[in-house]
Amino acid sequence: MPTYTFRCSEGCYFDALFSMAEVPATAECRNCGGLAKRVITAPHLSATSSAAFQLLDHTARSAHEPAVVDRLPSRGVARPQRVTQNPLHAKLPRA
Ligand SMILES: [Zn+2]
Repeated sequence: MPTYTFRCSEGCYFDALFSMAEVPATAECRNCGGLAKRVITAPHLSATSSAAFQLLDHTARSAHEPAVVDRLPSRGVARPQRVTQNPLHAKLPRA
């Protein structure tokens, strides 16, 4: 569910979770109990802390930053792996 921001007439801001079909235009202020109107803000869906959203964020992030390994990490100093079989690549300068 998306998070919506509300602002009351006293100036308090608070966030609340509502489904998109059931979000009210006004809500009771959590600080002073007054009438708070919904504020139009940029959506921050990923700011939710539910496990489902964390899983979605992790899945989306892993598509761009895959953490793929082909072996278990060694206990000693890690040696650079050869990633190419082309002998011409051996002549390229090393960083
Ligand atoms: Zn208030």
